[in-house]
Amino acid sequence: GCGICVKKCPFEAIQILNLPTNLQSHVTHRYNANAFKLHRLPTPRPGQVLGLVGTNGIGKSTALKVLSGKLKPNLGRYDDPPEWVEILKYFRGSELQNFFTKVLEDDIKAVTKPQYVDQIPRSIKVPGMTVGKMFDKQSELPNRQQLEEDLELTHLQEREVGQLSGGELQRFAIAIAGVRKADIYMFDEPSSYLDIRQRIAAARVIRGLVTPTNYVIVVEHDLATLDYLSDFICVLYGVPGTYGVVTMPYSVREGINIFLDGMIPTENLRFRDESLTFKIAETVDEMLAPKMKTYQYPNMTKTLGGFKLQVKSGSFSDSEIIVLLGENGMGKTTLVQLLGGKMDPDDVKDKIELRVSMKPQTISPKFPGSVRMLLLKRIKAMFMHPQFISDVLKPMNLEPIMDQDVQTLSGGELQRVAIVLVLGVPADVLLIDEPSAYLDSEQRILASKVIKKFVMGSKRTAFIVEHDFIMATYLADRVILFEGTPGKESTANKPEGLMTGMNKFLKSLDITFRRDPTNFRPRINKMDSLKDKEQKSSGSYFFVD
Ligand code: ADP
Ligand code: ADP
Ligand code: MG
Ligand code: MG
Repeated sequence: GCGICVKKCPFEAIQILNLPTNLQSHVTHRYNANAFKLHRLPTPRPGQVLGLVGTNGIGKSTALKVLSGKLKPNLGRYDDPPEWVEILKYFRGSELQNFFTKVLEDDIKAVTKPQYVDQIPRSIKVPGMTVGKMFDKQSELPNRQQLEEDLELTHLQEREVGQLSGGELQRFAIAIAGVRKADIYMFDEPSSYLDIRQRIAAARVIRGLVTPTNYVIVVEHDLATLDYLSDFICVLYGVPGTYGVVTMPYSVREGINIFLDGMIPTENLRFRDESLTFKIAETVDEMLAPKMKTYQYPNMTKTLGGFKLQVKSGSFSDSEIIVLLGENGMGKTTLVQLLGGKMDPDDVKDKIELRVSMKPQTISPKFPGSVRMLLLKRIKAMFMHPQFISDVLKPMNLEPIMDQDVQTLSGGELQRVAIVLVLGVPADVLLIDEPSAYLDSEQRILASKVIKKFVMGSKRTAFIVEHDFIMATYLADRVILFEGTPGKESTANKPEGLMTGMNKFLKSLDITFRRDPTNFRPRINKMDSLKDKEQKSSGSYFFVD
């Protein structure tokens, strides 16, 4: 059995290729004929944070909707949905029986932080609704002030919800869920738009909601954040858009490693061909690759309204990636614009002339045709080049969307196209602003590998802004640290080595990282754990090897 239905499942299975035969009947929900099917369900436990990980379109939000009671599971019978009595009978003998009994008895309240925070302003019907008024209306627990402080919302009380930036909306949405009194808290992708400090703060706020009797469930693509947040993990695998299968619960370490490995040991089932690992420097050859060119940039300043960025001069060479590390509002995008010549420094004498290719942070497509037409127009030579096809186009999985109109692409699809474009344009220097936005954890790793291989193979230099810690450490040969006060004044330091730079950065965040021995992924130490204290006292915030 699968651990959910202890008895033989009573429902007719619909044959699907690739689906392990013992799973064909364990359908929890099917939207419609020929529509997406979710098999099994994650099992929440009271007093613990359940983390869900899986690629886009695999059923994570569907699972949340079922567990919150918003979507009544039809056990696959979309044309003849069963009643709750029957649903309960179906889950009898499993851990989920208790859970659904509580949901059914209706003495349980679920609160969800939705995935798409951008839609929140439109869903608020009261005109001129401010952050403060929303808190007045929603607060049920005595933690409002604390959450406002932890999530940097105190100064935004008078701001209209419709005027919040992406990161502000995300923090607002997390806090609004957290001030409500509920038995189940669900957070669907809480790290989107947040910088690393804010991700850690959000994780602590979410963990702070746990009581011995409530349930907390989180869907998250930033694997370092997911790791830090969760007490246990269910992985979702399958064929995106077609079916998704939920695994049994694993420890956090094991669950994330299973996801990365692409193989479920207890079922002897491989769901991805390759496993995903992160050695920091990929091979010795790469480290020894002779650098052919060096470039310099001067000291610069840039004033934008009330914000002033000071850039310390630096140099870089080909075949290296420099990651820009700093909180939101510290001028990372401004530095990218200066390097790309899209913006003049205060003293135009300092203007930089480099041959650059740039992916902006926000992608708003105006191109009126298909993805294929766009690629043919912008990067025809590379689009035809066998190596570019095998190293970039294939792994970025553009084939399925090649003939779709650019204007109709989802956020993640647009991001993949934008990454292919930035690599395909002839240039010496690539400027890539937040490539992980809208990508799921699998796409993030694949994209990082593609970018790294391309930069090394084509002897380019890349400057990359990235808040996903696993991506940032995988990509970076060196880092530029930003220090100062967000939105006011900030200094972009000279590029420095990954180890020393990361060490300083983590120290400023007051967190330490260790490394997983299996696949080398960075793991945030729990605050005040033995490792955390040891590493802090020895000054090794970033790994001790
Ligand atoms: P995830 O959160 O893992 O990205 P979702 O649970 O949102 O995935 O969606 C899984 C699949 O179910 C997707 O292919 C999605 O298009 C489909 N889906 C979601 N909601 C509905 C619905 N109401 N009707 C039909 N299909 C749906
Ligand atoms: P980051 O990319 O690190 O989040 P940005 O470089 O986008 O930071 O912005 C740094 C600061 O400059 C922010 O406070 C932002 O609001 C401000 N800023 C950016 N562009 C302008 C502009 N055109 N006019 C006034 N202020 C701006
Ligand atoms: Mg989702
Ligand atoms: Mg930016």
